[in-house]
Amino acid sequence: MWADFIGNAVAVERLRGLAARGGGGRTLVLAGPEGVGKTTLAAMYGLALNCQAPPAPGEFCGACVGCQAALPQAELAGAIEAAIEHRAAEVKGNAREAAPLRVALHPAVLLYPPDGDYLTMAQARAVIHQTQLQPDAGRTWTLILPDLDLARWTTQSALLKTLEEPPPRVALVALARNPLGLLPTVRSRALVLALPPTPAAELAAGLRRLRPALSAQEAELLARLAAGCPGRALRLDLAAYRHLRADALGLLAEGRAGGPAASVFRLSESTRGSKEKFESLVEILYSVLQDIVYLHSGLPETVRNVDVLAELQQQARSWTAPGLAAAVTGLDELQAAARRNAFRPLGLASWALSLGARA
Ligand SMILES: [Zn+2]
Repeated sequence: MWADFIGNAVAVERLRGLAARGGGGRTLVLAGPEGVGKTTLAAMYGLALNCQAPPAPGEFCGACVGCQAALPQAELAGAIEAAIEHRAAEVKGNAREAAPLRVALHPAVLLYPPDGDYLTMAQARAVIHQTQLQPDAGRTWTLILPDLDLARWTTQSALLKTLEEPPPRVALVALARNPLGLLPTVRSRALVLALPPTPAAELAAGLRRLRPALSAQEAELLARLAAGCPGRALRLDLAAYRHLRADALGLLAEGRAGGPAASVFRLSESTRGSKEKFESLVEILYSVLQDIVYLHSGLPETVRNVDVLAELQQQARSWTAPGLAAAVTGLDELQAAARRNAFRPLGLASWALSLGARA
């Protein structure tokens, strides 16, 4: 049901209205940041177009033969990830050309995730081919193209005619973080729906509706950490986050104080084997430093890590503006080096130890 979606009520209403009118023969662009719910909304739109017993116009029931054929909402992200992983293991030589990546969310709802870094020409050809096939009776092909803004312009051009005028029983839904990355001709021929981040209070309320076990404080913290994006909030493991954040705060405090270095090296060692943990730690360090910058700028209401406000305020007193700027620059360099696969733990340790030397 559309009511399960958190935030962006205006866009949801618009999609429900379009689904009530049939949706085929039209191209939509859903534009918004990562985690705001573009894929989820596109999948829901496909279900609404293919529900055989809509309880209200443009709604989907979740129980009819059509809805039952869909992948459960909760398995969506996992299925996409699994398909991409399977793909990465499978691709040898020109397999990418021979079998363009796609994931069926439902027999009539097909998703074409970037095969590699972006939608490939082979996928674009597969999309065009798909639009020329007849769906089963009562069904509407809903073809979802994530990150179309990242696709090369030649690929977008190849899709232009199809995007401009899909057949009557085909709905095309392009997803984009930055709609300016789409060819102007794609933008002008599609209906673009903007999906801005959801205000923290609304997101927190939505999270508690979906997960009644969350406390009000936890929901608010998740909403702020996720910067208004429900998908990010739902993926965040709060216990693991808090654990790693405690390490990050310790690292910052010790580094700023100029030692002792014991925990710095311990943390460096523990992230040595895990790229993922290292990346999470760096992300949390950014978020904590950003909060300290907010406190320095007299914007305590903007702080994301609200549950450790007192500790952040205490740390903020030991920092100067140039010191913070240098720390962020150092973190940028560290992250860039990690992307080039430089020796990560040592980088993290020397970054932390350099914090105290700064003004
Ligand atoms: Zn149904």
